[in-house]
Amino acid sequence: MVISMKKGKNTWMSGKDSAAITLRAFRLLCRIYPGVIISMIANIIWNALTPYVGIWFSAQIIGELAGGRSSEALKKLVLASLACAAVISLVGGIIGRWANAESRKTWFAEQYLFVSKNLDMDFVRLDRSETQKLLHTIEASRNNSGWGFPRLLWSLQDLIAPVFSVLGGFVLVISFFTSRVPDGAGRWIILDNPVFLVLLIVIMLGMPCVSSLLANQSGKYYAVNNAEHSLENNRFSWFGHKGHDRKAAGDMRIYRIDKMCMKYGLDRKSLFSSQGYFANLARGKIGLLNLASNTVSYIFMLLVYLFVCLKAWAGAFGIGEITQYIGALSNIAGSMGRFLKVWGDIRNNAPFLKQTFEYLDMPNDMYQGSLTTEKRADGDYEVEFRNVSFRYPGADNWALRNISLKFRVGEHLAVVGCNGSGKTTFIKLLCRLYDPTEGEILLNGIDIRKYNYRQYMAIFAVVFQDFKLFPYTLAENVAASGQFDSEKVRDCLQKAGFGERLEEMKDGISTYLTKKRNDNGVDISGGEAQKIAIARALYKDAPFILLDEPTAALDPLAEAEVYARFHSIVGGRTAVYISHRLSSCRFCDKILVFSEGRIVQQGAHEGLMLEEKGVYAALWNAQAQYYSEK
Ligand code: ADP
Repeated sequence: MVISMKKGKNTWMSGKDSAAITLRAFRLLCRIYPGVIISMIANIIWNALTPYVGIWFSAQIIGELAGGRSSEALKKLVLASLACAAVISLVGGIIGRWANAESRKTWFAEQYLFVSKNLDMDFVRLDRSETQKLLHTIEASRNNSGWGFPRLLWSLQDLIAPVFSVLGGFVLVISFFTSRVPDGAGRWIILDNPVFLVLLIVIMLGMPCVSSLLANQSGKYYAVNNAEHSLENNRFSWFGHKGHDRKAAGDMRIYRIDKMCMKYGLDRKSLFSSQGYFANLARGKIGLLNLASNTVSYIFMLLVYLFVCLKAWAGAFGIGEITQYIGALSNIAGSMGRFLKVWGDIRNNAPFLKQTFEYLDMPNDMYQGSLTTEKRADGDYEVEFRNVSFRYPGADNWALRNISLKFRVGEHLAVVGCNGSGKTTFIKLLCRLYDPTEGEILLNGIDIRKYNYRQYMAIFAVVFQDFKLFPYTLAENVAASGQFDSEKVRDCLQKAGFGERLEEMKDGISTYLTKKRNDNGVDISGGEAQKIAIARALYKDAPFILLDEPTAALDPLAEAEVYARFHSIVGGRTAVYISHRLSSCRFCDKILVFSEGRIVQQGAHEGLMLEEKGVYAALWNAQAQYYSEK
């Protein structure tokens, strides 16, 4: 693996571009979670300013101890400092709790941003491997090292806190710059020479600069090598996640996949291991840079101590002020270092923000009309495919070729054919996940592109082959919402053949669909999940119901039960329905037989069987032979 600073340089952005993209991201964060930003800033300011109160009181108490030693004055100082400390920690606790509560919203708000984008994005674009790769990279960078929005929040803290820290510190050190060594101090008067003050200010500004510059150089190594970093993290953490996954347990045992995973985990030369790239860097360049950065900070502190102590020695101020000035000066220097380091963090993070916006800015190219689909009370819809052909983006072969057909509401349509013959693609085009490459699809005589996209989608309820249920309650899964009509949920589950199982459930429709989530939760089988997915489609009450292999996971008895009640299940809706099992299609009004992207036969079962040399008869006989007595 070749990793170097050079390799990542192509993603490196100029200072101006980094600032612009960071500002854009900041504006977005202010919009999606204003409460987080406000509470965070309040918390930062409070934490930046309050330490100086303690420093000031300490200086006063030490000064009193070393000077007047009045017990009354000391008592007052101690009581006042305790009271202040109590108020500071009380208010700090309240603000901290508020900021903490708000910060919990960040993850959800960010996820919501991406989920909304996914839902609005043209499906064709979402389905592209480049899009998925970009999304994966953004997620991996975020999860592995907080690159992107989380780092921006961290930077923001490092940007604001030092400003207030420096301001507060200056208030406490003004008297240091104005205090003078008394005339009788002999040659120590030289300490009042403005050269020393200028020197101190130069050191105060210069040292943190050098120290942060060195620290930023080392941080840059992690930023530019993030891709390799993420890849290695994925390999490594796969074991951590999948090692506990019940679904992978069988393969893990039979093939001992753990050994392969351990190879990555124990490889001493892998990226994070003791002889890996980062360990070598830590021993070499990064280690040296960090060492140099820390050394510079220590030299600065040494010089400050020396100068302040010498001035006190010469009599410019008392021993109490030594604590005050050293505390304040080191706070100022540390804060300036943090402030300067932020710029490096911002530059390191900018390419990741760029990737994030590349995703969020992806345009939609699909034409979206504004016609309403008028959810007609009579549900009278007619769909027509007019010479439709379709090729997946980047594919050479036609997935569908010259498809022409019409169907009216209430018809039950079966789509059969071998694997890869275009059945699922037909459904995807019908629900406008993709637009035809050639030809058009019409709803009540109008090209479906002219309808409002959301309204058009609303007339379909689909059970995809790879449908997903969620670890919420049964009722929430069926209604796809937190609010639901309990009677309707039960009725749909009953129709989908889930009635008996529902009766066994102690919590009824409030049962959680996983044991992991709740003690009374249940883990369901593939067949049961499919019935719930059918119930969800029924609950939607859409005029079209599309079922892609709806009974693939059901056992033959459950399948027979679904078919026997199919008409009552779908009622007066139009049902388009893909199945490999031809026996299940007999009850449909019309059967479409797909082969290599074309409709090669259509009609009712009996008619199709008469065409002895047809694809349908061949498929039927191939399946029937396993069931015949012979
Ligand atoms: P079926 O549902 O009949 O099994 P599909 O509609 O899934 O068939 O596939 C039809 C053809 O389109 C096949 O050749 C398949 O390889 C191809 N295809 C399906 N999905 C994609 C995709 N996302 N990208 C490229 N080609 C695809």
